[in-house]
Amino acid sequence: MQQLQNLLNHCYVNVPYYRRIFDERRLLPKDIRSFRDLRKLPCLTKDIIMKELNNLIAKNIPKSKLASLRTSGSTGIPLILYHQKVIADSIESAFIWRMWNWSGYKIGDRCVILRENTPKKSARDKENWWEWDPIYNYLILSPHQMTEENLYKYVKKIREFKPTAIQALPSLIFILASFMERHGIACVSSLKAILCCSETLFSWQREIIERVFKCRVLDFYGQTEHVVLAGGCEINNTFHIFPEYGITEIIGQSDEPVSQEGALGEIVGTGFYNYAMPFIRYRTKDIAVWTNERCNCGRAYHLLKRIEGRLQDFVVSKTGHLIPLTTIPYSFINNVWQFQFYQEVQGEVILRIVRMPDYTVKDSQYILATLKEKMGDNVEFFIEFVDDIARSKREKYLYLIQKLPIGLGGTLS
Ligand SMILES: [Zn+2]
Repeated sequence: MQQLQNLLNHCYVNVPYYRRIFDERRLLPKDIRSFRDLRKLPCLTKDIIMKELNNLIAKNIPKSKLASLRTSGSTGIPLILYHQKVIADSIESAFIWRMWNWSGYKIGDRCVILRENTPKKSARDKENWWEWDPIYNYLILSPHQMTEENLYKYVKKIREFKPTAIQALPSLIFILASFMERHGIACVSSLKAILCCSETLFSWQREIIERVFKCRVLDFYGQTEHVVLAGGCEINNTFHIFPEYGITEIIGQSDEPVSQEGALGEIVGTGFYNYAMPFIRYRTKDIAVWTNERCNCGRAYHLLKRIEGRLQDFVVSKTGHLIPLTTIPYSFINNVWQFQFYQEVQGEVILRIVRMPDYTVKDSQYILATLKEKMGDNVEFFIEFVDDIARSKREKYLYLIQKLPIGLGGTLS
């Protein structure tokens, strides 16, 4: 509450948009005395940020101290946001490192990096597929050269390095784990944890990663806007919401906070640390599953059972129901090198597949039968073979390209 009070006072004095919000409602920061009172203030949306960008930047912070960031807007047009240089990254790192420490991985321990970072010297050069960063003790492996032939070299390099942990994009560590399982290559015995970041970790990815590496797979949820941070601990995969980072609300269809076990809601967050461009009750458009349980690790944090990802990570059935991508089974991707779902028609989904040499028509039949069994008759799947599936600029892998406009509650907005 003290953190919130400090932030609201700052907003009232220095941020024109919030000053207007308070004045229009005849409120003062001191009128917000509880988390419940916070709901007297409206939510901040991406559309409002587009319109009010200049009014959302604090007047008392010099322009030279601002760092701009990009995130995707509601209509696909990039949205510009501002943070305070150095402060934003430092605080973010502190929270993430604390969580990673729970897994037994400490700063300075040997760690493999398999994410958007690339070795500095001409990253796409075949000879420069790895680099050692002595400051953090990182072995950085290129995400661009993970072909079937090269992966033997990757595994050898990792074994020689004897890492305590691997920081990885789920889609990349999944490629490595599948490769190792396919060829019967045993895990790296020094590993204490796989630390996933930046992408949604699907349960079918977690299964195989845990099976191959035989260690904790830690996942966390955060966003460019830095309003909510939540992560797993040393014993439990549910997301512990870090209350020192900001205030998290899970808002259901009726705009009320959800409280029932298993209820779905949108993640709405108020971040404590961005004084340059404060986000109060920011609608992330990400969907989470609420739980009233507490973790046995003893940290008394609220938990989120699952994060279903962005609203755009849902498939829409013929009847307009939203089906989370997280429920799609893993077992169907035998002999598949890469895959991606694509939807532009309600009830119809195209599955793009990059085949491995052993792929046959039987695999197609099995895939379609498995999907039908799991997803029912309400979604029809079609297979399309492609040569490659491109990653986004920041190396993120999209398992679903959703072209339909989606709103919470299963209705098309
Ligand atoms: Zn815990």
